[in-house]
Amino acid sequence: MAADVRRPRTVREAAPAKVNLFLHLVGRRPDGYHLLDGLVAFTAFGDRVEVTPADDLSIAVDGPFAAQVPADGSNLALKAAVALRDLGPSGEGAHIRLEKRVPVAAGLGGGSGDAAAVLRALTRLWRWPRDHDLHDLAASLGADVPMCLAGMPARIAGIGDRLSPCASFPSLPILLVNPGVPLGTPEVFRARKGDWRPALPAFATDDADGLLAALADTRNDLTDSARVLAPSVGTVLERLTAAPGCRLARMSGSGATCFGLFPDAGDATRAARRLRREQPGWWVAATRLR
Ligand code: ATP
Repeated sequence: MAADVRRPRTVREAAPAKVNLFLHLVGRRPDGYHLLDGLVAFTAFGDRVEVTPADDLSIAVDGPFAAQVPADGSNLALKAAVALRDLGPSGEGAHIRLEKRVPVAAGLGGGSGDAAAVLRALTRLWRWPRDHDLHDLAASLGADVPMCLAGMPARIAGIGDRLSPCASFPSLPILLVNPGVPLGTPEVFRARKGDWRPALPAFATDDADGLLAALADTRNDLTDSARVLAPSVGTVLERLTAAPGCRLARMSGSGATCFGLFPDAGDATRAARRLRREQPGWWVAATRLR
């Protein structure tokens, strides 16, 4: 009884959108997975997850992109909950409310971020020890789930599951732009042509100018194949590159979302306003790296 009184009734967690500030392909494993060298960061914008105690596990999805994700056991958020429950002793339940604000199949790691947020929320709701290591469970849900669970800027290696967190990182204003074309990650990887690159040495990420200078020598190796599948990716990149104050324009993950980094938040807001006016079919969000 006393334990019930202390039990939280509702736990909320953010599921920040992930951006790949650069993404190089450095090889391929025998099982077909690509080996990556990259830098991921998270934004102040993202989905929202709320969990409440219940007898069973269930999910309800709302928000602007709710219609594009399943509200059943195939939702990665519910899969994460089932996997966590099965790992624990008590077989507890919970109701998950997912507010889907991030576009789907968009290169922003939406499903992985939701799964990671559910793991964080349920370990709090179910009062699991804070130091319980969930890395293997997260990796079993998807290669990008461990980085979303860590939720901090990091250099990535392996298939994206080996992380070297960045000690400090600038909170740069960022504009996210999606042309409204979903892109499946496997299709983009399959369409990709080209050689492997050597992995880059570590570089400092603590100030905006240093970071932007280091990123100038990098790229996203999936951009060309994404542009073949979704030519509007090229248009988005052109518009971001031409926006006053944009210091770096690039595609995130396997697309089709692209981002622009703007040292001045006012420039980012003005570019967002202009793009929304001129391209009403595009999804545009002005936010910050966190
Ligand atoms: P990544 O950047 O990790 O490659 P993505 O952002 O391109 O991923 P998601 O938004 O995660 O892609 O969607 C990929 C697929 O996963 C979609 O087909 C979608 O239907 C499915 N899916 C299952 N659960 C979710 C979820 N909670 N959120 C988004 N997509 C989900």
